[in-house]
Amino acid sequence: MADIVLEPGEVFEHSHSAESRTTLLEGVIEFEVAGTTRRLCLGEAVIVPAGVRHVSTNVGSVPARIGCGMHGPVPAPEPG
Ligand SMILES: [Zn+2]
Repeated sequence: MADIVLEPGEVFEHSHSAESRTTLLEGVIEFEVAGTTRRLCLGEAVIVPAGVRHVSTNVGSVPARIGCGMHGPVPAPEPG
């Protein structure tokens, strides 16, 4: 998972070809996914479905750092 640094006011918009996870590592981020915008708590992780566009906006006054990347398919639990 690659870290992304956003300067204050910077907007980062993209999507992934598989389910991914965005984690706020540092700073203050407003995160928009599927038409819903919310402010992330430090250390909070959001799961983004495959192909869904998501937008991270640094609404703080210092650089923010997020981790955003695919974590691959989750194996189905084995029965029994
Ligand atoms: Zn992403």
